[in-house]
Amino acid sequence: MILLRADHIGPLEMFKIGVGPSSSHTVGPMVAALEFSKRIQSIISKNGKYKLEVELLGSLSATGRGHATDGAICAGILGYHPRLTPVKDIWNAKDLLESKGGFEADGVDGGNGFCDFRPSTDIIFGGWTLKGKNGDNKLPHPNTMRFSLYQNDQIALEEIWISVGGGFVERLGERAETDLKVFDLPYPYETAQNFIEQVMKSGLTPWDLVIANQKVLGLSEEKLRSELSEIWKTMTICIEAGLDTDGILPGGLNVRRRAKKLFSDLEAGKTPAWSEHDLRPSVYAMAVNEENAAGGRVVTAPTNGSSGLIPAVWRTLQERQNLDETTLQNGLIVASVIGALVKVHASISGAEVGCQGEVGTSCAMAAGGAVAMLGGNINQIEQAAEIGIEHHLGMTCDPIMGLVQVPCIERNAMGAVKALNAAALSLASDGQHLVSLDKVLSVMKQTGLDMNHKYKETSTGGLALG
Ligand code: SF4
Repeated sequence: MILLRADHIGPLEMFKIGVGPSSSHTVGPMVAALEFSKRIQSIISKNGKYKLEVELLGSLSATGRGHATDGAICAGILGYHPRLTPVKDIWNAKDLLESKGGFEADGVDGGNGFCDFRPSTDIIFGGWTLKGKNGDNKLPHPNTMRFSLYQNDQIALEEIWISVGGGFVERLGERAETDLKVFDLPYPYETAQNFIEQVMKSGLTPWDLVIANQKVLGLSEEKLRSELSEIWKTMTICIEAGLDTDGILPGGLNVRRRAKKLFSDLEAGKTPAWSEHDLRPSVYAMAVNEENAAGGRVVTAPTNGSSGLIPAVWRTLQERQNLDETTLQNGLIVASVIGALVKVHASISGAEVGCQGEVGTSCAMAAGGAVAMLGGNINQIEQAAEIGIEHHLGMTCDPIMGLVQVPCIERNAMGAVKALNAAALSLASDGQHLVSLDKVLSVMKQTGLDMNHKYKETSTGGLALG
């Protein structure tokens, strides 16, 4: 189902366990390929001759190699799941397909059919137009994929999928085909202002209000909390792995992992006294983003490129304020509301609006979630989220060599500090402020539309030019 309303997008949509390095360029394409691989099972039979071709278009073409999009496509084609399949198997999929020259699919006639698919020639990095029988067409989205299954050299199934950010995917035409189901929620909201009003009118905490809505959407509080516990556990494991690993990140840029050394300096009291508070969240964020850059197991928050910021802020507050796990979960629930509002009213995709949509959104989610965990009221939560976005407006996405490394890793480190400052600023005030979260989201969207194409995850401008 395509989720178009902010109140229908819950914590489990915003926080998804998957693999690095990118939610839009790795997890999304893998999910699309997985879905397509299921759909071709109703076509393939044991006696036919089949061939699969996948075109990566737009930003997926420009930065797909650095983001491991081709490897993710291969894993999805083999039926691997970004959360459930061991990371090692995911990254072996491309070599496996290359050596076998294709894959077996359950045939409709009970036998196994074989489909030719060699990643080196059948994954095409195709540029910025969608070539068709009647000429070139504009891409429906900067992150577009075309899957074509041929049977005896004729098209048997062709589908276009788009990866809209944060691991969300849509099949082109699905919006028109699907009855977009709108549920009758007890506390409906479409904007930040609606959300504030619902919290005030109901007398509920913001997280209890979301839990009540999620129940109507089919998710019990027990299930939600057990999933959030798994999500927090994955974030924690990721921080620990990053703090315990050194060496060079893959991809050819020769970026050195720094989190382990910085952390051991912190623990040994070797950093300048004034930097201890700032460095700790930064080091945690870098630990996660280094794991993400290495293709490790991470949680979208709301994307993989911005996956370090929220774990860093939560871990810092857990240590400094002795927060229990239920409070950490409540913070994630509130953060997810902010992420959903951005997704619906602006974008969480670097290819659509630049890094303001990724690290900017993550900073807003973390700031609002932090205020909620520290006992702030709904106006202070909204103010913190607004500050988090406002001071990332216009931030470009220009990763060097298309790798989610520079500037991404440090950007999460800086964002974590900003989020904590935004939370402190709003907790120190009464929540009254000039620019609303709703207003800043409309500015963010327009800024993204006005931003030159080369600054939106194409690696053709800014830092990417070296
Ligand atoms: S620069 Fe920002 S938006 Fe672009 S890939 Fe890095 S984290 Fe994502």
